Amino acid sequence: MRIPFRRNIAGMQGYVPGEQPQEAGFIKLNTNENPYPPSPTVRKALLAEANASLRLYPDPDATNLRRQAALTYGFDLSQVIAGNGSDDLLAMVARAFVGEGDTLCCPTPTYTLYDSLVKIQGGKVAGIPYPEDYSLPAGLAARRAKVTIVATPNSPSGTSIPTAALADLADRVAGILVIDEAYADFAEETALSLAREKGNVIVLRTLSKSFSLAGVRVGLGFAPPAILAGMNKVRDSYNLGRLGQAAGEAALKDIGWMEKNIAKIRKTRATLLSALPSLGFSPFPSQSNFVLAKRSRGRSAKPVYEALKRKKILVRYFDTPRLSGCLRITVGTDDEIAALLAALETML
Ligand code: PMP
Repeated sequence: MRIPFRRNIAGMQGYVPGEQPQEAGFIKLNTNENPYPPSPTVRKALLAEANASLRLYPDPDATNLRRQAALTYGFDLSQVIAGNGSDDLLAMVARAFVGEGDTLCCPTPTYTLYDSLVKIQGGKVAGIPYPEDYSLPAGLAARRAKVTIVATPNSPSGTSIPTAALADLADRVAGILVIDEAYADFAEETALSLAREKGNVIVLRTLSKSFSLAGVRVGLGFAPPAILAGMNKVRDSYNLGRLGQAAGEAALKDIGWMEKNIAKIRKTRATLLSALPSLGFSPFPSQSNFVLAKRSRGRSAKPVYEALKRKKILVRYFDTPRLSGCLRITVGTDDEIAALLAALETML
């Protein structure tokens, strides 16, 4: 029997997440996880929540988590939405704004999930290539797209776009501007204020990276209440479980823990950035917890990726024309980065 999928579902490739090896013993520098554990208060909150109340549905509005997020970031409760990771919030954006044949515009290369979500909707992606220095390309607003998305810091480049340029873009786009700030805690600037100031801006954050909670799945969205009203219509009613809500709230309450880890990661990032050139790689300037590095003399980075994998060091390799010379390396602990650099040295 021919399975009667919608035409665009039958015709699309599903999103392929980064490798999560089942085998132990890898130095995992491929999916931008935080090498440090979450705050001990998260464990306490999870244990407190792991009781008989688990038989009951969670708060469908994740009120306590959202209230804490509003307090932490200086928003009104009505300007905050919570997601099962920011991927969930991105899916809500696609469902709420991208209909059959509609366009989503973004600079490329960027987070490839955007493309998958738009294809699920039967929409089209207008990708505008970043210039070689990864500054904001011209022509984004000219596409008159329903949604324009800019990830800043961007993945896989690690580079960021100044808030002033994003403010200007918000004024010029025809539709909604989504600013994906998954990595903003590692950067010098945040565009969070634009979610307060502009009527058409959604800023997305995640607790997966800076708060070390990738395994729990907590994302936050900040936007004007009128935008969130529409997103709530397409949200799964219980999109965050009791454990995620409790963990997220506890993590936000211990911002000092997160900031301490960020300081360590930035320091290790500086070590990695300064070591790469003598190992045959030019790094792009990073405002994130990973570094994109381009192999010199136009050589493919694939053999290096494979050789590292044999040594049980996983980094990210993207097999596309623009990125085939590059490796994306998550900033791990000092020891993990020392092991990576030592391995690269043997491959010179
Ligand atoms: N945005 C970007 C740019 C990302 O790299 C990621 C991580 N894959 C996400 C959003 C999603 O993060 P999460 O769903 O874990 O919150």
